[in-house]
Amino acid sequence: MALLETKDLYKIYEVGENVVHALDGVSVTIDRGEFVAIMGPSGSGKSTFMNVIGCLDEPTRGQYLLDGIDVGGLTRDELAEIRNRKIGFVFQGFNLLPRTSALENVELPMLYNSLSSAERRKRALDALRMLGLEGREQHTPNQLSGGQQQRVAIARALANDAPLILADEPTGNLDTKTSIEIMELLVGLNLESAITIVLVTHESDIAEFSRRIIRFRDGRIVSDEAVVKS
Ligand code: ADP
Ligand code: ADP
Repeated sequence: MALLETKDLYKIYEVGENVVHALDGVSVTIDRGEFVAIMGPSGSGKSTFMNVIGCLDEPTRGQYLLDGIDVGGLTRDELAEIRNRKIGFVFQGFNLLPRTSALENVELPMLYNSLSSAERRKRALDALRMLGLEGREQHTPNQLSGGQQQRVAIARALANDAPLILADEPTGNLDTKTSIEIMELLVGLNLESAITIVLVTHESDIAEFSRRIIRFRDGRIVSDEAVVKS
């Protein structure tokens, strides 16, 4: 079943006399449980696409359905709620609240569901432990390594039962070994918990961890292929 579906999305920026089609008619369906990598040159519309499907930005026109809900018809509050309930963001730099502990960062989006504070705490601690962050619960992001920060963001998605993880260059700042660890974690979550993952990367080695690669160019999808595992 489609978890996300876009129909003819356009995002048009007018800056002075220039008109930029950041998205130029993007129609795509991503089913529950898929693991998709988005690739393409700089300026091809990848971030714009991620921001629209993450309900952080509105398209100029076109339709976006998330889990069957037409996002275009929602108010700001409804958007914030859907973002918190359905989407785990693993974005570089815009990941975690800086002055807030790992534990509280993981608990935050759960404020949008009806769990007791004890249950929220338990789920957060369990998720942090699953991601190998035991003993780091009280650390703030700047007291954690880049890889640990990404794992906190993934723990946050997991604790919150987010059906969708959006990751923008999740391994961009990480060394090779840590990058592979993060990717293996995502592969495990995708297989075991059926979490849908959409990630942007410009590295083929990273894209190979996914099962489908969508390539953008000039705001359009130019290829969409299954990854053949050797
Ligand atoms: P990518 O993530 O693939 O590098 P982006 O989605 O960031 O590409 O950008 C796509 C195009 O839209 C680029 O040409 C970029 O300059 C333009 N663009 C993005 N955001 C804005 C903005 N806020 N105002 C004007 N143009 C923008
Ligand atoms: P506004 O609707 O006021 O422009 P934003 O779109 O900047 O607000 O952000 C709304 C909410 O979405 C914020 O509470 C922020 O936590 C979250 N948010 C914004 N950008 C990102 C991002 N790149 N990754 C994760 N969460 C984000």
